[in-house]
Amino acid sequence: MRFVIKNNVLIPGSNTDRDSLPISDIPIIPQPPQNPNFQYNNDLQLLLTGKQLLLEDIPFPFQEVQTHYENGYVTYRKGIEHYGKKPVCSRCGNMDPQYFASYPCSRCGETCLYCRRCIMMGRISECTALIGWNGPVPDTILPSKIKQWQGTLSKGQQEASDHVIEAIQLNQEYLVWAVCGAGKTEVLFAGIETALTTKKRICIATPRTDVVLELTPRLKAAFPEIKVASLYGGSEDRHLYAPLTIATTHQLLRFYHAFDAIILDEVDAFPYTVEESLQYAAVQARKPNSAMIYLTATPNQKWQRECRTGKRAFTTIPARFHRHPLPVPKFEWCGNWQKQLQKNKLPPNVLRWITARIQSNKQALVFFPHIPLMEKALPILRHLDSTIESVHAEDPDRKEKVQKMRSKETPLLLTTTILERGVTFPNIDVAVVGAEDEIFTESALVQIAGRAGRSKDHPKGVVTYFHYGKTEEMLKARKQIVLMNREGIKRGLLDDKK
Ligand SMILES: [Zn+2]
Ligand SMILES: [Zn+2]
Repeated sequence: MRFVIKNNVLIPGSNTDRDSLPISDIPIIPQPPQNPNFQYNNDLQLLLTGKQLLLEDIPFPFQEVQTHYENGYVTYRKGIEHYGKKPVCSRCGNMDPQYFASYPCSRCGETCLYCRRCIMMGRISECTALIGWNGPVPDTILPSKIKQWQGTLSKGQQEASDHVIEAIQLNQEYLVWAVCGAGKTEVLFAGIETALTTKKRICIATPRTDVVLELTPRLKAAFPEIKVASLYGGSEDRHLYAPLTIATTHQLLRFYHAFDAIILDEVDAFPYTVEESLQYAAVQARKPNSAMIYLTATPNQKWQRECRTGKRAFTTIPARFHRHPLPVPKFEWCGNWQKQLQKNKLPPNVLRWITARIQSNKQALVFFPHIPLMEKALPILRHLDSTIESVHAEDPDRKEKVQKMRSKETPLLLTTTILERGVTFPNIDVAVVGAEDEIFTESALVQIAGRAGRSKDHPKGVVTYFHYGKTEEMLKARKQIVLMNREGIKRGLLDDKK
């Protein structure tokens, strides 16, 4: 959009008007004072509160948005800021020149620079305004009983839950480092209730859509009378204003100073760890004075160091709800397994491990670092049992295969790291073939080990890393698990000391 400034207010200008400028070229965008007599549109208020939307996202005519701006109820921000000559995308924080491109823009009539990094959320260019709300915040009417969840917490969960409440009350940053299977969702319920009771707007964000889909019904059940917005690519709640939001980290790109508390689940998961724009989005979505709770089973090495040296406020839940220790991975050297596979053979100890599971009807997950090698192993193993399956990220039958594993139709599932987290099978053993591969980081190996022994009826499981040379990452993963078990004993959170 092009604007001119008249009487310290932005007025839309036409492409032929020589005085008008694309919004990014206007030095300072004036904000008109709020007109107390103006009757604002409640639907626009609900849509824009805590957001930064493009005009295309708003199902109201531009003139109506502009009138709200002129009366002080809507804000315009520049889609692209220029710091000196350097462009910066206001939505995703992109400053990398290779992620900007230009095109002949019909809206402003100029060659217009746009951000390629966040283009999946709609194009931000030099003539794009990010539209937000500047009026009163919608009032939420609270039910008499907010939380319906009646379950009990383990001692470890209770301690973490108390810390979460405190961090939300005091607007602090806090890390909950909870082992796989500790039951971290339940740890959030009391904190969410605290936030809602004090009319704070709260968001649970996660890098993975699967997690949003899984958490939504659980939170709706725990807080049945609270409106919950569930946001992911293509979700129907996109325009819903709610005191409790569950969103992928991508969806946070549409929010600006929205939340009094953000709970960031699985901070160590792809793509959050590699995409700086998502980290930027999480910061932008918070109010300047707000709480940030991080949840993970596997903090990265920098965070672990910060925890050890007292630079990061954190608590651990070192034990699972069922009070049995985490299975500690065993290391087994298996020689040059890749060479063996090229000859259509598996190392004898790997084959023995798998045969033993098939014969004793114990389900197992076997991880491989790469798809082609896994596909080589599959026909060899189908000689043992023709119903063995393999799965990977691009597999169109991925969901059905996981389902068949759950219903125990599949005795053994070969997989890439795609199943390293998020899936729970009640009674399985786990093996990694080629644990020395660089794809198996400390965090991946801890997550993989965390698939075993999850249910209280089957709290034990065998975890074996088959390798062709031990790596630092393998050692760190095992050490992390051993230390968590030790802490669980020390804090009285485990029954079984073996
Ligand atoms: Zn333009
Ligand atoms: Zn961007």
